[in-house]
Amino acid sequence: MIERDLAGIGMTSARTRERLVERLRAEGITHEGVLERIRTVPRHMFVDEALASRAYEDTALPIGYGQTISQPYIVALMTVALITDLPPGNRLQKVLEIGTGCGYQTAVLAPFVQHIYSVERIHPLFRRAQENLRKLGITNVSLRHSDGWHGWRSQAPFQGILCAAAPPEIPPELLDQLADGGRIVIPVGGRGRQHLISVTRDGDEFRRKTIAPVSFVPMLEGTET
Ligand code: SAH
Repeated sequence: MIERDLAGIGMTSARTRERLVERLRAEGITHEGVLERIRTVPRHMFVDEALASRAYEDTALPIGYGQTISQPYIVALMTVALITDLPPGNRLQKVLEIGTGCGYQTAVLAPFVQHIYSVERIHPLFRRAQENLRKLGITNVSLRHSDGWHGWRSQAPFQGILCAAAPPEIPPELLDQLADGGRIVIPVGGRGRQHLISVTRDGDEFRRKTIAPVSFVPMLEGTET
C-alpha cells in the first residue's frame, strides 16, 4: 500500500500516531527516545492491508500463522526495561531477540543497539521481517530462521536478550549467553497468563525483577517451514 492511499485512512497523519504516543505516556512510558520510535516506526507497514486502519491502536494484531504483532505499550515497556540504564546517546553492543515475528519490535529497538541478532521459528515470518526491515533501511540486524530456546551461541555473550514468546521457565542456555551486567527481558509462565520479568547478570548472580502481568504467545520448540 503506498503512502498516498494510507493518507486517506489517516495512517500517515501525525495526529493518529501522536494519540498512540500520548496513550503510552498516560500508561507510564516516559523514555523520550522510545516514544519517538513509537511515533516514527510505520507500524501499518508491518500488518496486512486489511488491518492497516488499526495499526496505531494500542492492541496486538494478527500477523498470520497464529501469531501477533505485539501491542505497542508492551513493545515500549520491554524496550525501556532493556535499555533503561543506558546513558543517553550510548548503545547496547549486542542484543539477541527471540521471536522476530514481523520485525516491528526489532525496528523499534534498532537505534539503541549496535547490532541485533534476531531469531524466528516460522519461516514465512522470518522472510516477512527481512523484507520489512529492508524497506525501512534498517541494516544493523541479522535474522535467522531458528529455534530460540538455544539462543545464538556463536554470537554470545549478549548485553541484552529480549524474548517475545513465553516459556514456562527461562531456558538456562539464554542465561548462559548473557554478558556480565547484561539483562534478559522475558515473559515467563503458562499459556495466556505470564509475568514479564527482567533478570540482570552480575557475575554468577542473577537479579530477578517482576515488571508486569502479560499475555504472550507461547515459546515453542523446533522450527516450521
Ligand atoms: N515482537 C514481534 C511479535 C512476535 S510474536 C513483532 O513485533 O512482530 C512471537 C513470535 O515468537 C512469533 O512469531 C513466534 O513464531 C515466535 N517464536 C515462538 N517460539 C519461538 C522459538 N522457540 N524460537 C524463535 N521464535 C519463536
